[in-house]
Amino acid sequence: MQPEDLDNVIARVSEAAQDFAGQRLLITGGLGFIGSHLVSVFQHLNDHVLTEPIQLTVVDNLVTGRTPVEKFRDRADTRVVMADAADVSSLADLGHCDLIIHAAGIASPYYYRAHPLETLDVATRGTRALLDLAVKDRARFVFFSSSEIYGDPDEAHIPIPESYRGNVATMGPRACYDEGKRVGETLCYIYHEYFGIHTNCIRPFNVFGPGMPEKDYRVMPNFASALIGGRPMTVYGDGRQTRTFCYLTDALVGFILVMAKGVPGEPYNIGNPNSELTMSELAMQFQDIDTSALVRTIEYPDSYPADEPRRRVPDTRKAQMQLGYESQVDVKEGLERFIRWARENYTGSQ
Ligand code: UDP
Repeated sequence: MQPEDLDNVIARVSEAAQDFAGQRLLITGGLGFIGSHLVSVFQHLNDHVLTEPIQLTVVDNLVTGRTPVEKFRDRADTRVVMADAADVSSLADLGHCDLIIHAAGIASPYYYRAHPLETLDVATRGTRALLDLAVKDRARFVFFSSSEIYGDPDEAHIPIPESYRGNVATMGPRACYDEGKRVGETLCYIYHEYFGIHTNCIRPFNVFGPGMPEKDYRVMPNFASALIGGRPMTVYGDGRQTRTFCYLTDALVGFILVMAKGVPGEPYNIGNPNSELTMSELAMQFQDIDTSALVRTIEYPDSYPADEPRRRVPDTRKAQMQLGYESQVDVKEGLERFIRWARENYTGSQ
């Protein structure tokens, strides 16, 4: 993460993060896009804010994670365990935890189409195994769910509140991800209701920013790589489908606030409600930043799972009222920061 982004996050979460002082945190997917940024935030809190450090155990199997393990190896506060979060036996000897953050998952449609069973397993078997650990240690539990649990929402429910039940297919190319996350949430509900575990589910809405691998194949890295490589950005379908894009720093602040202040048992939308764009408009935003950017509209490629949501906009009032969450970075500013980072880190050849 860029130093100014990290400072921004720390300034916004320092007070809430006091709750983590001296605690033992287990984070799965800690070498992935979101997980590795969370680890950086916790380490930075240890270095600059907390008097008693957080002890971190990072679990990852690098199925899609890319952060070099060396980045964390030389720190006394961080232990890296190479293991599959869906493999119950590999989680047996991790030591006592106060907070378990289950951020392992396969979030890019390109990758979950390629790894459907792994996608389902990490969200279902992995969540169950980690919840059992939470019972043993009486730990808090935070599950990274997804805005995909809403499927293709009905127009009447946009912006989407947490209470919307979704419009999701049990069979289809997205089902492994959508239904897996839904079962993960149901497990959190059961362990909260029946075992008294303090669980929270986070539903992120299209988080983007520095650290997204070039070969992630989601729209932001695809467009940035194309721009840098002088290739046309490819808009899929009619280009009228929308997403709201949430810049990394805003998302991290929301995630930490849920971990520190989430009401037991509750799910929270975390995203930027004011940034709804069609994919054609997103391409134009890239062109506004760099007039050399080329655009082409194409049929959906086979590698992208069809049946996608037409609109996706979060209602974030619950996070605002219960946690004091606000997004601050508009898409244009976030895009500028992301593209600046991508120019230094992408090859353009994707
Ligand atoms: N998309 C696109 N071009 C790309 C990749 C994605 O037009 O190169 C569109 C895709 O059809 C979807 C949106 O961008 O409407 C977001 O897709 P992404 O894979 O980033 O994540 P999703 O929100 O579908 O999980």
